[in-house]
Amino acid sequence: TPKGETHEFRAEIRKLLDIITHSIYTNREIFLRELVSNASDALDKLRFETSRGTAVADPDTPLEIRITTDKDGGRLTVADTGCGMSREELVDHLGTIAKSGTEAFMKSVADNAENKDAASNLIGRFGVGFYSVFMVADKVTVTSRSLHADAAPARWISDGSGNFTIEDVEGEVPRGTSIDITLKADTKEYADPERLKAVLRTHSNFISFPILVDGEKTNTIPALWRESKFSVTPEQYKEFYQFLTYDTDEPLATIHVSVDAPVQFTALLFIPKKGLGPMAFREALHHGLDLYVRRVLISKETKELIPEYLGFVRGVVDTEDLPLNLSRETLQENIVLRKIQSVLVKQVLDKLKNLAKENPDAYAEFFKEHGQALKLGYGDYANREAFADLMRFDSSAIDPDAGFTSLAAYVERAKEGQKSIYYLSGPSRAALDLNPHLEIFRSKGLEVLYLHEPVDEFIMDTIGTYKELQLKSAELADASELDAFEGTAPKPEAPELSKDDEAAFDDFLKKTKELLGDRVTEVRLSTRLTQSPSCLVSPDDHMTSSMQKIMRLVSK
Ligand code: ADP
Ligand code: MG
Repeated sequence: TPKGETHEFRAEIRKLLDIITHSIYTNREIFLRELVSNASDALDKLRFETSRGTAVADPDTPLEIRITTDKDGGRLTVADTGCGMSREELVDHLGTIAKSGTEAFMKSVADNAENKDAASNLIGRFGVGFYSVFMVADKVTVTSRSLHADAAPARWISDGSGNFTIEDVEGEVPRGTSIDITLKADTKEYADPERLKAVLRTHSNFISFPILVDGEKTNTIPALWRESKFSVTPEQYKEFYQFLTYDTDEPLATIHVSVDAPVQFTALLFIPKKGLGPMAFREALHHGLDLYVRRVLISKETKELIPEYLGFVRGVVDTEDLPLNLSRETLQENIVLRKIQSVLVKQVLDKLKNLAKENPDAYAEFFKEHGQALKLGYGDYANREAFADLMRFDSSAIDPDAGFTSLAAYVERAKEGQKSIYYLSGPSRAALDLNPHLEIFRSKGLEVLYLHEPVDEFIMDTIGTYKELQLKSAELADASELDAFEGTAPKPEAPELSKDDEAAFDDFLKKTKELLGDRVTEVRLSTRLTQSPSCLVSPDDHMTSSMQKIMRLVSK
């Protein structure tokens, strides 16, 4: 027998294994979800290869996942007939951190070091893939044979501490991967077939390959998106959503459509209630929809199917209009995918518009969670009208705790003869309350939208006009335009200036201009302010001050 060779795990995996084996005591059942999902991925890969004509080993072996238990011995085996792994692949795939989500997980655990349950909760929500098996295992043996007909089988063995051993395997090994687990003393329950079936029902019900526990098939649900939407129950949608996302909540909205033109496809999409939280996590948990061609999974998290600004949407798309031998590398230029995307974008925006109309509170909640992402849609010119309707802003006319306003609501509140929707940028309400530009608007009772994020000004530029009102920065509104409106409070009379006063002011203005030099175009007297001594204004066709700040940052 060729001798085995021992490899050390990379440092980051040792750290991960240390967390997994020493600090996670709840949610351990999700190890099975991770192994079954890997088995399913491997079967998907095999089916994909077969469908594009690759010759595979054991072509007649059925595609399935077999779990066998040895209750007395405290062991179980999870085997699949998927694509398998060669010796090199075992080292590569089970020796490094494949998922970027795993790194995010570790960072989060580190950030939440004082919270004991954090690791357990996070692992439930995100999983850490194969390594989660060490939550329950004392020892793991992976025996695998790659799908290529001439591949030699190999074995990977580890107890989850510092290293793993790789060895060749003599004799017949069927195609695919078999994972043999010796359970820890306190996790023997997972050698009980009834316990395993219950876990599978919770987490793996929608796996599209048969799962057999000691020979008995446990999963029965077919590709849900292919069913007629009239036959699917809300409970099934919810279960499928939870299967897909690992979320424990129900989805905020479900979109199930079957489209025939301009391309044929079926899609089942969900909008989660909660966003993914901090940016780091969002980036780690790549966005995209799972793409199937005639039920064969072509690629997971396919970015080409949904734009980044709707990246919170999760789900699957299944089409007849693509060839099975589609190359993953050329998805980006694929015109069919682009057409599907544009239909899906309209569907999602429509759904959101309806939600905003029928349940404003739920929409407000949605905007709080996903507004950051949605705002990036200002670049989607084709859908700018729907986009404008979906935007929400803070405003001088609403109570600080009342949430945000829509542009439509602003228009309803606008004064007679008002030709603009005014806005002003500032990091917070408190900062804006002190902004001298707002004095005149306050005294005239004119509403001003408060923009708290840099992206908001880009949004204003994209929208341009809304219901015939021009979107305009309060900084750029000139006095003559505002004079047309009656003040709510009588404007204090401007005092008559004596000749001496005028001379003194002239002097002052000249000196100020000298001091400021090129930094200002002009220094002049104004009757616009009622409380502040001075303010900066932009010449009419210039950028607002916050836009200038952004441009300075960008051009650095
Ligand atoms: P992920 O599934 O997100 O890639 P995992 O840690 O779960 O991360 O798995 C790491 C890699 O190991 C997989 O990408 C795959 O290449 C390989 N792998 C794991 N389980 C199997 C399996 N049953 N059959 C084939 N390859 C597998
Ligand atoms: Mg995995």
